[in-house]
Amino acid sequence: MKSYETLINRQKNFFNTHKTKDLSFRLEALTTLKSVITTHEKELMDALKRDLNKSEFDAYTTEIGFTLKEISFILRHLRSWAKPQKVKTPITHMGSSSYIYSEPYGVSLIISPWNYPFQLAMAPLIGAIAAGNCAIIKPSELTPHTSKLIAQLINDTFPEEYIFVEEGGVETSQALLSENLDYIFFTGSVPVGKIIMEAAAKHLTPVTLELGGKSPCIVDQDTNIKLAAKRIAWGKFLNAGQTCIAPDYVYVHQNIKDAFLEALKTAIQELYGEHPIRNNFLTHIVNEKHFNRLTTYLSDGTTFIGGNTDRDHLIIEPTVLTDITWDDEAMQDEIFGPILPVLEYNDMDSLIEGINNSPNPLALYLFTENKDVQNNILTNISFGGGCINDTIYHLATPYLPFGGVGTSGTGAYHGKSSFDTFSHKKSVLKQTTLFDIPFRYPNAKNALKRIKRFLK
Ligand code: NAD
Repeated sequence: MKSYETLINRQKNFFNTHKTKDLSFRLEALTTLKSVITTHEKELMDALKRDLNKSEFDAYTTEIGFTLKEISFILRHLRSWAKPQKVKTPITHMGSSSYIYSEPYGVSLIISPWNYPFQLAMAPLIGAIAAGNCAIIKPSELTPHTSKLIAQLINDTFPEEYIFVEEGGVETSQALLSENLDYIFFTGSVPVGKIIMEAAAKHLTPVTLELGGKSPCIVDQDTNIKLAAKRIAWGKFLNAGQTCIAPDYVYVHQNIKDAFLEALKTAIQELYGEHPIRNNFLTHIVNEKHFNRLTTYLSDGTTFIGGNTDRDHLIIEPTVLTDITWDDEAMQDEIFGPILPVLEYNDMDSLIEGINNSPNPLALYLFTENKDVQNNILTNISFGGGCINDTIYHLATPYLPFGGVGTSGTGAYHGKSSFDTFSHKKSVLKQTTLFDIPFRYPNAKNALKRIKRFLK
């Protein structure tokens, strides 16, 4: 196994010069990153096309534009976030004042997946830079063109002792993980998340784990069926369903099931045409292994719409399955592809109980105008984040932290949360020397009696 000790020591030495903590250094690095991305937009689009057949529209909105917007937002706010934050001080601490200092951890390792190969490597990097860390990025081996371009752009722009991209697969990842790092930010699957946490535990390295799982989408009776179907079709089939927060399956109220399925059919046809298999803009499945995994689900239940595949081009049409039960293959694991099982329900309480008996979802979507139903779901199901009457959109705002809970992840990022995630919050109390409250000391007269007035 290759050793990364030298690289990590070089980054630690550079970090110890304190240059990365300087606010103007961070702002300059972010501005440089933004300009590199803007200059190479076309090459990035080409790489994403070659790896996944992403359309220019998808490549820009979900990868390049998303990243640029995140940098702009952080550039606008970093000055104020980076300042020590003054907080209240209790009366028991009379004379002193309290501050929270945000300090970088040091050398952070960012391991990213293939589904949004550019954005999911860059968004954590932006947080790492903003907080003043050094960073090593290990992009996904399954999207080689994008990963190669990321390595080329970053390694040509930044000195290796500050930011470095190392391409490679599992072995590279494990070799990096065996080193003593200061922070690990991992995006990927639940089983690999467990491996990452185990490796981090050896050095007590703090982690963020952005994982996955089955994200439910509930369509209640009291909803605009047509709009719900359109927003669900968009969120599910975007990137061929290879989105960590894509609706994994739909639970529709039995009274509106038929109308909803018809609206879903119309929405899919509007988005992808009468014969989606012939649509040149469909994102491909990442590789044959995933294609084979996904096509086994096509024999579950009844195919309501779609179901056609093209093995040569790794395409699976947007597909909706009905007559599905929890014993079916498609319901055992996260689908992560363009296949949407639609199940029906008539009792909200047993639906909630069912979801709560499964691992915590990364996302949950609820379509209803009924406020009581909204409150019932929001209060009684734990999930990473989600939307009422929409899908995916909660991820695309820098004002909402994005992350999972339980098996769907630990920690969150985006916007200020990215800065916070890559910063240790150092609490500091500044005490006066002008006076000294006597009853804090046990030998003061009536110390216990007086202290009891404050500590109750
Ligand atoms: P993955 O876990 O297989 O791989 C992710 C990264 O980990 C890759 O860089 C890979 O090289 C590395 N890796 C793989 N096996 C490893 C091992 N044994 N030891 C160390 N490193 C290893 O995930 P993937 O297939 O690339 O991505 C799909 C998964 O990621 C889905 O489960 C999806 O839900 C999840 N995901 C989550 C988010 C999120 O933000 N929460 C975003 C995108 C994808």
